[in-house]
Amino acid sequence: MKQLYDEDSFLFDFEATVTAYHYDEEKKLHKVCLDQTAFFPEGGGQPADQGFFYLIKDKKEGAISVLDVQKEGESIFHHLSSAVSVGEKIHGSVNQARRWDFMQQHSGEHIFSGLVHRHFGADNIGFHLGLEEMTLDFNQTLSLAQLRFIEAEANQAIWNNLTIEASYPDEETLQSLDYRSKLDLTDNIRIVSIPGYDICACCAPHLKNTGQIGLLKVTDVSSHRGGVRVTVLCGKRALKDYTNKQDNIFSISTTLSVKQNDAAFGVEKIKEELFSYKEKTHILETKLLAQKVKNIPSSANSEHIILFTEPASEIAIRNVINELMRDCKGYVAVFWGDDHKGYRYLIGSNSLDCRKINEKLRELFSAKGGGKPVMVQGSVTACQKDLEVLFS
Ligand SMILES: [Zn+2]
Repeated sequence: MKQLYDEDSFLFDFEATVTAYHYDEEKKLHKVCLDQTAFFPEGGGQPADQGFFYLIKDKKEGAISVLDVQKEGESIFHHLSSAVSVGEKIHGSVNQARRWDFMQQHSGEHIFSGLVHRHFGADNIGFHLGLEEMTLDFNQTLSLAQLRFIEAEANQAIWNNLTIEASYPDEETLQSLDYRSKLDLTDNIRIVSIPGYDICACCAPHLKNTGQIGLLKVTDVSSHRGGVRVTVLCGKRALKDYTNKQDNIFSISTTLSVKQNDAAFGVEKIKEELFSYKEKTHILETKLLAQKVKNIPSSANSEHIILFTEPASEIAIRNVINELMRDCKGYVAVFWGDDHKGYRYLIGSNSLDCRKINEKLRELFSAKGGGKPVMVQGSVTACQKDLEVLFS
């Protein structure tokens, strides 16, 4: 089968003859081989092309979807949505937008990995090119400053609009060639070179020149098996990401009434303010709860202090309980919520084992919760009246 994508990565329409047909009973797939194809089968980290077959006798009517393309041994199988007969002439049409996107990412990846190797000696040991994301794994750690340096260099290579060349050098040339992804094999090795930036063994179709990548941006980095995993976006994906981020920054800066480039500073300031308000709220809630406790009629319970209240911060409730526990010989219990939706609770005691009352709550009302002898917490669906009885 002639691999047309190998000779011309920008050939998206072609004509061919069906040379083999097989129905995969297990996967319910129609698998077809052609005498030549521009459909790239998944390989070298690049996903397979998709597109359509049109039967020439039908004059481009009745499109058959090409769902996947896979290499099996020396054969390339097109996975189709319906059957075609051997000998049939077809017009193949590769989904251009999908292929362009993959080529933008993959050609960008070669430049990036080539530069990382040249400047820092790190090897790309994992390449994942998905529909949304592209990640590159390197076997050494790389700092953000190093990644920014590589990013700048890679974009310079893009703007230099260099020709990307693919070739099959003979064995002798290969032996003397210093290229990435070197395998033991020396037979039929396809070399993709970007002059001055990268030489790498690769079977995938690439752009014709680096300018077509448009833009390259590192968007994330994390530790990965002793090295780093770097997320890189190229071309249209990078522009889309920029637009999304621009929308976010615009929204944040407008909401906070700060300049776009001061958005992070604005958020930090709001965070500090929020923290200080929270602190004040805790103090006020603690005072309010303490006041509520004072208002509990003294005849209601002498040994325990039981308070039912509307939701408050857990910190305030803990503060009040800790305060009251000092002088209380029984349980100090605070339930917040209502009879309908249920209550959350915190119970503390310096003299009794709180786990016992918690056990009762579990037994009688299927409460969920636990803790230590000195304090338990949980949630329960029961009415105030029944819960009060428990402490009497
Ligand atoms: Zn490659």
